[in-house]
Amino acid sequence: QLELETKDLVQKDKDHLWHAMYRYNEKASPTIATRGEGAWFFDTNGDKYMDGVSGLWCLNLGHGRKEIADAAYEQMVNLSYFPLTMSHVPAIELSAKISELLQGSYTTFFSNSGSEANETAFKIARQYHIQNGNPGKFKFISRYRAYHGSTLGAMSATAQANRRMKYDPAAPGFLHVPPPYSYRSPFGEDVPDSDRVAAELIDQVINWEGADSVAGVIMEPFISGGGVIIPSKEYLRRVAEICKKHDVLLIIDEVVSGFGRTGKMFGFMHSEGVQPDIVTMAKGLTSGYLPLGATAVSSKIYAKFKENGTHNHLRHISTYGGHPASCAVALKNIEIIENERIVDRVAELSESILSELYDLIALDKVGEVRGVGFLYGIELVEDKKSKAPASEELMGSIIAACKKKGLIIGRNGDTVPGYNNVLIIAPPLSSTEDDLRFVVETVKTVLSDLC
Ligand code: PMP
Repeated sequence: QLELETKDLVQKDKDHLWHAMYRYNEKASPTIATRGEGAWFFDTNGDKYMDGVSGLWCLNLGHGRKEIADAAYEQMVNLSYFPLTMSHVPAIELSAKISELLQGSYTTFFSNSGSEANETAFKIARQYHIQNGNPGKFKFISRYRAYHGSTLGAMSATAQANRRMKYDPAAPGFLHVPPPYSYRSPFGEDVPDSDRVAAELIDQVINWEGADSVAGVIMEPFISGGGVIIPSKEYLRRVAEICKKHDVLLIIDEVVSGFGRTGKMFGFMHSEGVQPDIVTMAKGLTSGYLPLGATAVSSKIYAKFKENGTHNHLRHISTYGGHPASCAVALKNIEIIENERIVDRVAELSESILSELYDLIALDKVGEVRGVGFLYGIELVEDKKSKAPASEELMGSIIAACKKKGLIIGRNGDTVPGYNNVLIIAPPLSSTEDDLRFVVETVKTVLSDLC
């Protein structure tokens, strides 16, 4: 009976469900999840998997937190929907909480997703400069390899090869600079401080373009989907200085890194003294339980809108943005993160358990292991000397072998042609110590076999 039902589901899936980047089962049958438990999920075959990438790095507290489900339920029966053209309590409380967590004075516009949070940031940045008497400042700078979302503006800031090749022309006004990627420095092997050079290049690009034409710089504190790139702490500090000098807004995309993923509440907090002008959030904001995006702007920006009496006229609206149930879920999620000291736990367990992944560097085909908090990338190469990227075949067989052993891991996708060679490990922040050991042991076993 179960087999028949599964067969029927597989057929319907094949005929009717359009998957996003159907990466794990291109040829085989899809994995159809039916139930989750903590960091694990079960499929229609009754097989059990540890989710080593937290869904799409969003399911930070794992499956089945009843308190979160209850918060959604209670909110839905109390006030089922309400628009933010007026106001409601969970959105007010959440905006104040976000400001407190960002350790500054921030005002938040809510949307539905990370892409939309970034679109909102671009619109606010451009309007800010108009309000400020600089209507010519409209360009945005982002980094190659970065992913900022799938809507047209966010995708234009995204500088990953395949996405761009499929959808160009991008929106005008989006410029790209090399990332602080010391393992493959675009400035040459013999430049010892390539992160510094990468930061200075932003200064130069702003000068070349004309500071009077640049609205903002958008970056993740740590490039996640683009291959887990972890710059020195000084890099972001220097970028912040450069932005300030040119009156260019620093937009930090915390969609992946926010809410504890890197062992700090926000990724930018690893670089002391950096206070972004705009912070965008999604994923970990609700731990994936309901959709919600947030664009928090510093008081400097919001004051400009208020001063000119235009804060009510952003000309940007989202029907479901700041949905009461999503805000209630986000508040409960944050309460759990705080009560259970999730952020400190991530820092501690990263150090004591996940850091064992660094041992893999001893293998012939492991070029570099990079990690921060519960975000690790293992860059695979044909050989350490040439650094030629590992083949698609090897990448695919590693992911398949892990899955066979009950572990789902990810990889960077479509980043640079031929360079989709970074395995990504980002387990739920609530994973038990045993779960984390299972991740490390499985990856070690599989890589020792195949690399
Ligand atoms: N920014 C980053 C850094 C992301 O990783 C993502 C999603 N992977 C987004 C933005 C877009 O978020 P969403 O899919 O919710 O639109």
